[in-house]
Amino acid sequence: MKCGQCGNVGLEPGFIEDAGEHSRGYARWVEGALQRGPLGGARRMGRAKWQVDAHRCPACGHLELFARQQV
Ligand SMILES: [Zn+2]
Repeated sequence: MKCGQCGNVGLEPGFIEDAGEHSRGYARWVEGALQRGPLGGARRMGRAKWQVDAHRCPACGHLELFARQQV
């Protein structure tokens, strides 16, 4: 895999951590534009959610994000 910023080959696999309370430990991509509920939280009921894979370029630090797998 090639870096979209500097063209370096050999990106390191990883993911974006979600360290919030009651979180599963990883961030997800949610289908549809952000809408907030009455308490200010994001509405996500019934939406498709995808695992976010983040590949890091060791040369410039750029992150390439992919949502390939529905969770
Ligand atoms: Zn790079």
